[in-house]
Amino acid sequence: MYHTYLPSYSVGPDCYKEIPWATRHFGKKAVAIGGKTAMEKAHDALLEGIKGSDVQIVDFIWYGGDATFANAQALLENPVVQGADMVFAIGGGRAVDTCKVVAEKLDKPLFAFPTIASNCASTTAIAVIYDENGNFQQYFYRETPPEHTFINTRIIAQAPEAWMWAGVGDALSKGPEVELAARSSALLSHAPMLGVQCSGACPEPLLEHSYQALADNRAGRDSEPLEEVVLDIIVTTGVVSNLTASPEGEYYYNSSLAHAFYNGSTAVPGSHKHRHGELVAFGVLVLLTAENRLEERAKYGACIHKLGLPVTLEQLDIRKEDLPAIAEKASTTTEWTCVPEPLTKEAFIAAIEGADAYGRTLLK
Ligand SMILES: [Zn+2]
Repeated sequence: MYHTYLPSYSVGPDCYKEIPWATRHFGKKAVAIGGKTAMEKAHDALLEGIKGSDVQIVDFIWYGGDATFANAQALLENPVVQGADMVFAIGGGRAVDTCKVVAEKLDKPLFAFPTIASNCASTTAIAVIYDENGNFQQYFYRETPPEHTFINTRIIAQAPEAWMWAGVGDALSKGPEVELAARSSALLSHAPMLGVQCSGACPEPLLEHSYQALADNRAGRDSEPLEEVVLDIIVTTGVVSNLTASPEGEYYYNSSLAHAFYNGSTAVPGSHKHRHGELVAFGVLVLLTAENRLEERAKYGACIHKLGLPVTLEQLDIRKEDLPAIAEKASTTTEWTCVPEPLTKEAFIAAIEGADAYGRTLLK
């Protein structure tokens, strides 16, 4: 016996107008919890969205600044939160993830309002929890993704461009990684099979539209290319994640060598100057090099380079001498095993060097 809940969402500049309808079975009193900037950006649109309805936002509460159990606990003990019928999570990944813990522990319905497009946190059940020092602590699984996600492209278009830029870098990994991770398995069962098929919908919109989407983001302009890219980053990757990673750990096809490169890179200081999506984008080139898929590498490489994402180690502040430490760290993480044939550390290092050599040809 198992259950699968998939994301449901409203998208567009006026999607907050659907709040009363989408929440109608869940209560009247909502507490908004989120990032400070995020709540400031969404405040007026939220009030406009519920105007004339019987939905009420009883308070706007800062989530605490990071996705930690301590911040979730403080919210759990807040009588305003306890008294609300529903939780409205406003912001980026960390705010939404904190609200997943709060909503799960208080058994309240959760609605997500992403204000940036950097990842799929607002459509997934999984939360990434950090310790007090900001290091990764563990995954926390809410039973379901948020009940509904409101993707306001006007607000997202006005966020700093760096968020979507890194979001594209991360999402570019989804197609090649899921394909590779699932390739060795015999016939997949229903949910992961569906997820693998959906991952095939990730690359094209990004390869096609992200350059224009980022230009529109820079200009603060909502547009069709921007909406396609936002939906790819937030919804498509979220659907894939919900279907290809089982909370009980029976299967995991959600990432592979690009994230193995990211994981490994956290062991060397230079990488800390760079966003997750920058390191993952280069990791895609590593994956395609390891696989000797040179035609695809040329396609992804051209896109990554055109977007100003890194295509060489130097751009990531990683030195050749760092590679053994990167391979060592990578080999201890889950993603290392998400390949059809086990990889040696030497082969991984050779793939990183090959990706770097290819990247340098793009800079000439
Ligand atoms: Zn990622």
